[in-house]
Amino acid sequence: MGSVLGVILNGQERLVREGVSILEAARSAGVEIPSLCFHRGLKPSGACRLCVVEVEGWESYAAACTTEVAQGMRVQTHSEGVEAMRQTVLELLARAYPGAARERLREKPFQRLLRRYGIPLRAGGEEPLPCGSAGGNVAFRDDTHPYVRADLTSCIGCFGCVRACEEIQGQFVWRVWKRGQQTRVEPVRETLLASGCVGCGACVDACPTGALEDVGGLEPDGAAEWTRTVCPYCGVGCELEVGTRRGRIVQIQPAGDAPVNRGHLCVKGRYAFGFVHAPDRVTRPMVREAGRWKEVAWEEALGLVASRLKVAIGTLEGRCRVGVLASARATNEENYLIQKFARVVLGTNNVDCCARVCHAPTAAAMREMLGTGAATNAFEDIEEAEAFLLVGCNPTENHPVVGARIKQRVLQGAALVVLDPREIELARYGGVHLPVRPGCNLPVLHAMAHVIVAEGLVDERAIAERVAEWDAYRAFVAEWTPEHAAALSGVSAGGIREAARIYARAKPAMIFHGLGVTEHGQGTGGVMAVVNLALLTGNFGIRGSGIHPLRGQNNVQGAAHMGCDPGYLPGGLSLEEGRGALEELWESPIPRERGKHLLEMMDAAREGKWDALWAVGYDIALTNPDTLRTREALGTIPFVVVQDLFLNELARDFGHVFLPVCSSFEKDGTFMNAERRVQRVRAALAPVGYARSDWQVVCALAQAMGRSRGFTFESSEAIWEEIRRAWKGGAGIDYARLESGGLQWPCPTATHPGTAVLHQTGFSHGRRAVLARVEFEPSPERCGEEYPFLLSTGRSLYQFNAGTMTLRTSNRHLRPVDTLDMAPGDSMRLGLAEGEPVRIQSRHGEVVLRLRLDEGMQEGQLFATFQTPEAALNRLTGPVRDGAVGTPEYKVVAVRVGKVGSAEWREGVGEAAGSLGG
Ligand code: SF4
Repeated sequence: MGSVLGVILNGQERLVREGVSILEAARSAGVEIPSLCFHRGLKPSGACRLCVVEVEGWESYAAACTTEVAQGMRVQTHSEGVEAMRQTVLELLARAYPGAARERLREKPFQRLLRRYGIPLRAGGEEPLPCGSAGGNVAFRDDTHPYVRADLTSCIGCFGCVRACEEIQGQFVWRVWKRGQQTRVEPVRETLLASGCVGCGACVDACPTGALEDVGGLEPDGAAEWTRTVCPYCGVGCELEVGTRRGRIVQIQPAGDAPVNRGHLCVKGRYAFGFVHAPDRVTRPMVREAGRWKEVAWEEALGLVASRLKVAIGTLEGRCRVGVLASARATNEENYLIQKFARVVLGTNNVDCCARVCHAPTAAAMREMLGTGAATNAFEDIEEAEAFLLVGCNPTENHPVVGARIKQRVLQGAALVVLDPREIELARYGGVHLPVRPGCNLPVLHAMAHVIVAEGLVDERAIAERVAEWDAYRAFVAEWTPEHAAALSGVSAGGIREAARIYARAKPAMIFHGLGVTEHGQGTGGVMAVVNLALLTGNFGIRGSGIHPLRGQNNVQGAAHMGCDPGYLPGGLSLEEGRGALEELWESPIPRERGKHLLEMMDAAREGKWDALWAVGYDIALTNPDTLRTREALGTIPFVVVQDLFLNELARDFGHVFLPVCSSFEKDGTFMNAERRVQRVRAALAPVGYARSDWQVVCALAQAMGRSRGFTFESSEAIWEEIRRAWKGGAGIDYARLESGGLQWPCPTATHPGTAVLHQTGFSHGRRAVLARVEFEPSPERCGEEYPFLLSTGRSLYQFNAGTMTLRTSNRHLRPVDTLDMAPGDSMRLGLAEGEPVRIQSRHGEVVLRLRLDEGMQEGQLFATFQTPEAALNRLTGPVRDGAVGTPEYKVVAVRVGKVGSAEWREGVGEAAGSLGG
């Protein structure tokens, strides 16, 4: 923070911070200096020459955006001279502006400025710009991208798109070609997509003329209203401005001042909203009769569910045979009510959510070691970090806005270590990549710790004051030499040493980890080994450090934290810790026994011991591992209620009642992102059709089952007020405080500012954390002659999880099918070609996918996405689970690959998926 300076702005003295530009100083004083190339988040360039000002004593005009204020500086922002110059610049630009754009793009900043300066637009377009891509050149046009239209006949050469793509997304799609009169802006290849555009829309936002525009923004009727809310996709939790007209979403833009995304979005958050209005959206309740779905009134559907659930829980044993699955796409308020319903109305702790199959190991490991099972720091720390260690995560594909921020920091010089079987995009930006064999994170992490200890790179103060069992840990890790780990993991010993040194020496350093750590038989142990590294190096409790689990779905953190877990109550309290106070608040007993988690429910069902399942916004038929056994289990459950937007695979094949609910664009509430930030979700639309909010359905069902007390809320805010009473760490967060930006918990009082950095002076459970000594247990999924490849599974940039939402948007054009990624050497050996459908068989099942060659793959390893029902990839994944919390081992599957129709494999492992889609 610089000192305060006094400047004279248009004759008035102003106090401004040292280091700010004249333009920023003027704006903070309420003086608007025109500019077309200045954008929050981009370095100022002075390209448009419209922000020129007069500075007393200077011989020429100064560009206000690139000139810093100085003590005593006297500035005239709108003198006759500078206004005349602006007029001249605008007239020149207007002459080249194409007439066709005049009506279409009237509200663009350029046209607004022309009107302000009284400059008419003529038929236009013939006269070349002095420096711009419209003049004298054949301007670039591209209408092949489903979301972005490029027509650079309207370009005025401000280069905002070039800078936005470089400085925000780091994608380098746009380039300035030639010089002087010949200067023009074009992508690096013939189309946006061919140039590597990832559809973030940053260039669109930076373009003042509409030369680049959202396809939605070109509709004749633009948005009539804008509503601020939170993205319905990943756990980054970007804030959106949702533009609507006549009950439909027409455009989405990023919230410029959101602390998480700071005016940036990814292709999903910005453009993939078409699912809301998809023609197959189910908007009336349905029941299945004689195998056919029939639309019914809400009362009938709820009456049926209530009566069947009442019968199911009629005995004590019955209560143990009924389960509820909450939704990472529902709000905190809804998830809180869902688990309350399970515990109070159904009398069971059989409630779970998709955290079970993703970050339950993270929550368990971090809770045990640090006392709190959630991210230690904030995304705003990315810009403070000197190094990043990415373990089993691919942020630019799966958490793209965070990925772009990490990429920018790395481009600025921060060090980077990537521990992942694949050469993910970020691994191409330098640093060290450790291509670990799937299932072998633990040896590599232990060996990194070995190097840190052996080479004296530990933080002595952290060891002395904040960790426990140091001697025992040191003896344990002494065995884990890099050579020992190299033999197990396939990573070179030298690479392990280098990675350890980079991470330990560049303080502060942040660790991001993902499902590549957790979705293993030793997922919890893997996270513990990650936490060890932060503890050894003192990378906790300070800005720019910590451990960051990248949460997959927008509110998976919230769903688990609201108590949608068979062993934990709201606020992350165990049943023993939290039961007393909650029983008082709810005026009901809470069962003492831990409930069954999702996979245990399936185990019981397979034995014919499960009577009813209510799944809210969660398609386990597609996403659970080991599809054939999952389907076998689901087929035995006599009553399955599905609450969702669409007839998903679970509803289609196993549902008895379908309850249609609102998307997050149609309701109020809060989400909790991956950095513990609670943010407001606001309805931008009325509910589509007869859809209801999930919380309304829960309340109505409770009442239908005869339990009104505790389920008669009028609004999501009223539910949140009860949550504040149930969860001390969120007691200080009310809706008024969430008007913009949100708050990170713990936030225990109304005046508490929230907590960006945990564990500053102690851990949540005490002063010291115990370094974990986790013995390595290899996965039972082994390669051999019969199954020579190791397959990992994951998501892609353009599709989201089960694809329920993104497959109903134009993202389907950007990534139409699931693929199998293979190293080119392997494909040559097998005689398989890029794009060819290939048959993949594991010990558990078989699928057919199109082959994609990827030079970033190690030979002998494969990667596949799981996002389309056509591919049904989880036919391949098996029954192995994390020993502590039951999370499935999606990341290690031994498979073989061959041509479709290859006859030599044994049949009957499972039917191959019939269609590849797309
Ligand atoms: Fe949405 Fe995540 Fe993309 Fe942000 S990064 S826009 S939260 S999907």
